[in-house]
This record gives sequence, C-alpha cells and structure tokens, in this order.
Amino acid sequence: MRAVRMTSPGVLEQVEVPTPTAGAGEVLLAVGAVGLCHSDLHVLDAPPGLFPTPITLGHETAGTVEAVGAGVTGWTPGDRAAVYGIVGCGTCRGCLSGAENQCRRMPPGGIGLSRDGGLAEYVNVPARNLLRVGDMDLTQAAPLTDAGLTPYHAVELARPALRPGTFCVVIGIGGLGHMAVQILTATTAVRIIAVDTSVAALDLATRMGAHHVVQAGPEAVERIREIVGPAPDGADVVIDCVGVDATLTTARTVVSTGGRLLLVGLGGGTLPVRPVADAPPTLPLETSVEIPFWGTRAELQEVIALGRAGLINADVQTFPLERTPEAYDLLRRGEVHGRAVVVP
Ligand SMILES: [Zn+2]
Ligand SMILES: [Zn+2]
Repeated sequence: MRAVRMTSPGVLEQVEVPTPTAGAGEVLLAVGAVGLCHSDLHVLDAPPGLFPTPITLGHETAGTVEAVGAGVTGWTPGDRAAVYGIVGCGTCRGCLSGAENQCRRMPPGGIGLSRDGGLAEYVNVPARNLLRVGDMDLTQAAPLTDAGLTPYHAVELARPALRPGTFCVVIGIGGLGHMAVQILTATTAVRIIAVDTSVAALDLATRMGAHHVVQAGPEAVERIREIVGPAPDGADVVIDCVGVDATLTTARTVVSTGGRLLLVGLGGGTLPVRPVADAPPTLPLETSVEIPFWGTRAELQEVIALGRAGLINADVQTFPLERTPEAYDLLRRGEVHGRAVVVP
C-alpha cells in the first residue's frame, strides 16, 4: 500500500509498504480521510530521537473497517469509524480516570505519533480507539478527532466560566480555531470575539458564528478592549489556538480579573506570571491558566454527536495522498483555511 512516512527525522516521503494485518485486539481500517495538523510539523521539526522513525504520520483519521483481529467484538467489515488518537498506558492515574490525554507515562504518543498513523491506504488501530460515525462524510469525521476534540476539551474545561452573555476571545482561526467558534456557538450563549491576522480567516469566523472579529496586530488589544471594556474587566475566557509570544501577550492583556486563559496552540511562546502590585502585573489576579491537551474518548463521542447533528462542520480543503507534502507546505505558510484533509 502507499503511505506518507517520516522516513528519518524531518524527511517526509511517499513509499510503498506492506499492508498491515490486524493483530489481537486491533482493527484494520481502510483510511477514508486524514486531517493534517500543525503538530505534524512539530513532529517533522523535532530533534532526532523524540519520535520513532520510520513512521506513518496522520493522527486525525476516519475510515471503514476492513478486517478485525482476534478477540475483537462489536466491529465488522464495512463499519465506519473515527479514530481516537491517544494510546495511553491504561494503568496510570490519568488513564484510570478516563483521561488518557493526561496519561503520565505517555511521551507525546499515539496513532501517527508513536505508532503508524492514517496517511496511508490502511491503518491498524486498537479496537478501543474506534468510535462510530454512522453515515457521516469521512472528510468531516476525520477533523473532529483533533481539530474538533481539542477545542471541545478546552471549552469543557472553561465551561463554568462560559456564562450566557460573557465574552470569549478565540485567537487563531485555523484548523482548531474555526471549530472552537462553532463549538462555542453550538453549546453556549457567550459573545465570541475572533482574532486572526488573515481577513479570510476572520470572514470564516463570522460565517461560523463569531459576533466580533478583530485583526491581529498592534491595535488588536485596543479593539478588543472597546468590546469587553477596560481592565480589570475583560474577556471571561481566552482560548489561544496559536501560542506564540504575540498571541499570549494579547491573551493575558485582555483576560479579565478572575478569567480563564487556555493555551491550546503549541507555538512555543512564553507566558510570564507576575501578579504583583509594585510592577506592571503580567496577569490579572484570580486568573486561571490551563494547558489543555487533545481530549478524552468520551468528549470525542460528544464531538461526533455535534457533527452528526450538523451543529459543527469542518471547513475542509481536500488533497490526494501524493499531494500531502504540498498540503504541509501550505499549512506551514498559513495558507490553509479551515482544515487540510488528505483522502488516500
Ligand atoms: Zn493534532
Ligand atoms: Zn496512562
């Protein structure tokens, strides 16, 4: 079968590899769609040794069951499913509590991260990582597993603060951000302020339900302040889907006293914490900072339910498998609107 693999650190190639067979407890899935994620770029850019090679990338997968391994019940060929990407140890406190995204033994691991992922014609996954998607379009189902699940988990963490009529700022209207806006629209009555450098991304945010859009730049904080009011008031919740120094500065400058700042994007920025009175504070008092990671299996089931109900729809740009490197280049240059999805 054809697969797009990181053959050595930083090197992406389309290669022919043997089609895997489902082992005990595993299911062989014919890949219908796989979303491309900024995290894949971090994997490609990572220092040697952090991720195994060779490895088939792709951690945002949906497909059709091709074959089941020994001991697998409940799945038969032809069933359609989305893949929960995290493979936790199953025995630590995080996994035992049902939060495999808090696995304490996991290196940044999972399907397409520590074992072969979905950028291939077939992928082998543990049966317990599959969730049913019914007759949903697989190019819609695939992005739900990360671009949908990650902001959904962030919204779940912040939900007590997302009271009707309060303000939520979403920074970065890319793959995750455009889903965050829809999840907020579908499950809350907050006032959504979308922030991005790109006018096209802001137009997308408006179509997805954002009440206000603000172009990122030197005047962004002032524009947001005109909407949320002066400090110590501010945005009750800020979800930063970028996570570079500039976006974190905007986030901490507009969050309200007692607000919630959720750092979702892995942009490598630094957030200084200095809540004192004798120097300019970097964060308002009583502010919570959280670093959500992906989400839980139960949350993915809820995200799929929102997708099947038509309440959230990924804005997708599709590519055949052989154009995967080009799609990653577009993603790297910030030229993908919504989610790039490969259809093997
Ligand atoms: Zn991802
Ligand atoms: Zn664990």
